[in-house]
Amino acid sequence: MVVFGCAGCGAVLTAPVAQVALPVHARQKWGNGVLLPVLMEPGTYAVDPEPSGPPWRLWSEVGVDEAEARGVFAPVRALSFGRRAIVVAPGEIRGTVLIPERCGGYCCGLDGSDGPNLACEQCGRAVATRIDDCSLWQAVRLDPGAVRRLPAVGPAPETVSWKTLAQELRDTPPFEESGHWSARCAAAAGAALAHLLAASAGTPVAVPDGLVADTFGRALDALLPSGPMPKTVALAGPLLPHPAPELAPDISLVPQHPQTGRHGSHPAPA
Ligand SMILES: [Zn+2]
Ligand SMILES: [Zn+2]
Repeated sequence: MVVFGCAGCGAVLTAPVAQVALPVHARQKWGNGVLLPVLMEPGTYAVDPEPSGPPWRLWSEVGVDEAEARGVFAPVRALSFGRRAIVVAPGEIRGTVLIPERCGGYCCGLDGSDGPNLACEQCGRAVATRIDDCSLWQAVRLDPGAVRRLPAVGPAPETVSWKTLAQELRDTPPFEESGHWSARCAAAAGAALAHLLAASAGTPVAVPDGLVADTFGRALDALLPSGPMPKTVALAGPLLPHPAPELAPDISLVPQHPQTGRHGSHPAPA
């Protein structure tokens, strides 16, 4: 566990939090007027693997090789070469005040577009950006240059077992009452589809019938060529039996642990 404090005056800025992976839906935008829940679980923080904020460099200045090294394979207007923010739930924040002139957003809340909008209550230093406008997952992003880690307090929480996670997932329907996918499920499917496409390397893939075909089949048919000898795809994970080596798929679809960010073991090369 760790507590984040102001780098200027040392004031405590968060409750004790333990590090987890940044949820895949962190950057999702979902429907104007829709208030999304809080991004991070209570008592947790994540370091955003993507830099954010200034300095920005235009796509033409970055070049394909450098962008690919950052994991960006399609042109964007500009890439951030800023710092990697520390993300927590708004409820974990202590001792801050809003900076009124930076409270951009205001369709339903703050969107963080004016830069840091929270200051240390004790010394006035801008330390974080609160985001709670509609269509955005609610979070506070601490500026890593404006905060520091204070001595750890208490033991780290236990890692939740895959079995418990699977049970929680079973209890969470992937659909809203309206019949639409839940925002979280749509983001997870989008992330999985992107990884599946990358693992295919543009060659035909064959997905198993049932849930996988229902979820990804139409998109893959549209995005990948069809042809003989497709790469095979199968579900894998810590709660599924390992297939015999000769039956191992080319690509495994595996779960990602929300605390550790690690993938379940799998038999496929990709
Ligand atoms: Zn301070
Ligand atoms: Zn709104």
